[in-house]
Amino acid sequence: MLQKNDLISLTITDITNEASGVGRYEGMAVFVPGTAVGDCLEVRIVKVLKSYAYGIVERMLAPSSDRAEDRCPVSRQCGGCSLRHISYEAECRIKESWVTEHFRRIGGIALTPLPIQPSPAQSGYRNKAQYPVRRGADGRVQIGFFAPRSHRVIENLFCDLQPRFFGEILKWIQHFLEEYQISVYDEDTHRGLVRHLFLRWGEKTGETMVCLVVNGQSLPHASTFVQQLTAAFPQIVSIQLNINPAKTNVILGAECQVLYGKPTISDILCGIRLELSPLSFYQVNRSGAEKLYGIAAEFAGLTGQDVLLDLYCGAGTIGLSMASQVKEVIGVEIVEAAVQNAKENAQRNGIQNARFLCDDAAGAAQTLAREGLRPNIVLLDPPRKGCDAAVLAAIGQMAPDRVVMISCNSATAARDAAILCQGGYEATRLQAVDMFSRTAHVETVVLMSRVEGK
Ligand code: SAH
Repeated sequence: MLQKNDLISLTITDITNEASGVGRYEGMAVFVPGTAVGDCLEVRIVKVLKSYAYGIVERMLAPSSDRAEDRCPVSRQCGGCSLRHISYEAECRIKESWVTEHFRRIGGIALTPLPIQPSPAQSGYRNKAQYPVRRGADGRVQIGFFAPRSHRVIENLFCDLQPRFFGEILKWIQHFLEEYQISVYDEDTHRGLVRHLFLRWGEKTGETMVCLVVNGQSLPHASTFVQQLTAAFPQIVSIQLNINPAKTNVILGAECQVLYGKPTISDILCGIRLELSPLSFYQVNRSGAEKLYGIAAEFAGLTGQDVLLDLYCGAGTIGLSMASQVKEVIGVEIVEAAVQNAKENAQRNGIQNARFLCDDAAGAAQTLAREGLRPNIVLLDPPRKGCDAAVLAAIGQMAPDRVVMISCNSATAARDAAILCQGGYEATRLQAVDMFSRTAHVETVVLMSRVEGK
């Protein structure tokens, strides 16, 4: 029986969804963070539970051939990228196996997925970042990311996942906050002004948004800030305050105040020009999203005559990208700013066959079903927690030919797919799309087809 402080030899045979390596020792699973499949290690046991244990690497006996050099100076503390120590090829292999396994184990769906689509870029691919701003023990303003399961800021201005100029902007703002002695947020006392910095970039247009999330109503020296920041970074077309005075871990408040320029930035996705508010969801990996939506369109099998219901539609991106290939698009989204963007985006692109409702997906789906809407294709792109049972029930009522589900959480996607299967659908195509290289996240697309006679 394993005991704390034991030293054991262990071969890593798998990687969990939290990106921890795992090996078996006398029938017991031993989790060892920062390891790769194939590593032979000397492991020190740090915690023993009933059927599993945790260990740390004491000594590398023989490294896995999956290992790759990790050039990020803070990846171990930051925890954002938990797969930097392995090659990208190995990362894709593991992500594909996570999706396959979730569908098999949680969904009871044994479907061999199509080969995973890799991300077009493994660094600098993010078009949005939200950085906590705090005061460090040395009194300096710190900007970076929270350490895992903590609110300690790991300072990192030049994260490899964001474009390099994000770091230049952060450095500039850090200096401004210091020079003008603008207070930064302290969670313990709920005092201090600047909580987070939100940066978003339209990769295709170059338009950049800077948004300061503040525990207050205004920014001291705002006009100097605007004047100097836009002079230093001419690509900035929107500077905003997001007002968030609440005692909460939620980053953004409901209200935005424009300090400079437009309330939105533009980007181009799948040939559609989009305007995006800070509060609107937008896929962080633009070129990855084009691949993702391309796969979703292919799975949907559009005929030109379709009625497409796009539930959880955000700024309308998916439905609008498919509008020219269908008869009608109906989008449903709960965030008002996103729905506003979606409507304007349809208009600006001359799309006349799309309408958008600001509503809860479950309520809207039930109402639309009751009103007799019979879409032949339903697109689902829910948040991590997956779809409400009521959404899935309403889909059963509307009985579309095909349901295409996109999800950033393959566990809930598998659960929801299983519910649709009980209601007369069959999962026919499954594919993982990597949109979040180097991190433990992956997108899933699944096609559910209605089984004749059910
Ligand atoms: N399809 C969009 C957005 C996907 S993200 C895109 O690809 O860009 C999921 C979206 O679901 C977010 O915009 C979020 O605001 C929205 N959402 C979350 N809960 C919802 C609910 N109960 N009803 C409707 N929309 C919801």
